[in-house]
Amino acid sequence: MTIDTCNFKGLKAIVRVDFNVPLDENGHVTDDTRIRGALPTLKKILADGGALIIMSHMGKPKGKVNAKFSLSQIVEPVSAHLGVAVKFAPDCAKAAEAAAALQPGEVLLLENLRFYPEEEGKPVGIEKTDPAYEEAKKAMKASQKEFAKTLASYADVYVNDAFGTAHRKHASTAVIADYFDADHKMLGYLMEKEVQAVDNVLSNIKRPFTAIMGGSKVSTKIGIIENLMDKVDNLILCGGMTYTFAKAQGGHVGLSICEDDKLDLALDIIKKAKEKGVNLVLGVDCVAADSFSNDANTQVVPAGEIPEGWEGLDAGPKTRELFAKAIEGAKTILWNGPAGVFEFDNFTGGSRAIAEAIAKATADGAFSLIGGGDSVACINKFGMADKVSYISTGGGALLEAIEGKVLPGIAAIKG
Ligand code: AMP
Repeated sequence: MTIDTCNFKGLKAIVRVDFNVPLDENGHVTDDTRIRGALPTLKKILADGGALIIMSHMGKPKGKVNAKFSLSQIVEPVSAHLGVAVKFAPDCAKAAEAAAALQPGEVLLLENLRFYPEEEGKPVGIEKTDPAYEEAKKAMKASQKEFAKTLASYADVYVNDAFGTAHRKHASTAVIADYFDADHKMLGYLMEKEVQAVDNVLSNIKRPFTAIMGGSKVSTKIGIIENLMDKVDNLILCGGMTYTFAKAQGGHVGLSICEDDKLDLALDIIKKAKEKGVNLVLGVDCVAADSFSNDANTQVVPAGEIPEGWEGLDAGPKTRELFAKAIEGAKTILWNGPAGVFEFDNFTGGSRAIAEAIAKATADGAFSLIGGGDSVACINKFGMADKVSYISTGGGALLEAIEGKVLPGIAAIKG
């Protein structure tokens, strides 16, 4: 069953969304992107004449009730977006009555799922090293099933539209699906779009394919870099991780961020790229700073020639040209991770050059996928979100999907 073909008339649908939105100190939503992202699914169910039960997590309350993370704070904005006065169930595991009373066209928002440790299914208050841990884990898995069964009992249909948590096997993202047959569970529109976008860069690749991987560390991106090596024509590595490569090749990196235990790994990536015929693009120069701050003094130096006491915080001008060249003419583009400390306005140049080149290639017909928190923040900072093909709402989920891993939230529905 798909969200499009399902007629929700007279049905109650329980929908897992990602309403983990940022709030200010007064509990006001500061960025409602995630709420807006789920609206097509929620509105379709209401328009068909269905009733809606919305569930989500917020923050990391670690299995305990915590007013700071209460979803009651978003009742108003969700009501405003849906044009319906949303009812609120202050205990997600004790909402049977409220759910039963729900009429077509009505909406019930459940309190934060993560107020219950069963949502994540990890035993609390016991260390992994404790001999009793395995027993505790088994007991927790059993109560996680009960928790999921309770949530499932509220509705006739289950819809998962929370891509951001699709890589987690939680009660509401995966376990709950066991309580619905194939005709009564489906992905929401947002999930479908995310899956399609990943498919475009993994299966329907139009060449040349250029991937840009940046961010602070190579260690957190190694899985995806290795996976991409079999798929891409050009692989740009940028940001903090490049200093590990520079040092591995005998360069001087000064105080730059560098993983000394990953030097061999860096050399291995260079070797593998050669073997596989991938055009690996590493920077040739960088903007070095005399402190980690926006107002630091700067100088442009060749890669691997950073003076003592200085640190590389952005890609240099020659590097920016190289990056732009590798992006120009590409027909498939994936970008994850900035090319510098883009949070400092004076060190956005490398990331901006990448964003501009992607925008140009996209205008020329490329499919460009931007994902992973920081590159999205980056493209938003430059006001260029509408100049790329797709911005993923998933950080970890997107990376795992592109690594080729099966996401539990998707597998639970699609098998
Ligand atoms: P990640 O979470 O691994 O994707 O890394 C994103 C972070 O990497 C951002 O906060 C950037 O500020 C940071 N970053 C990028 N380039 C550098 C650099 N040259 N030195 C230190 N941090 C960097």
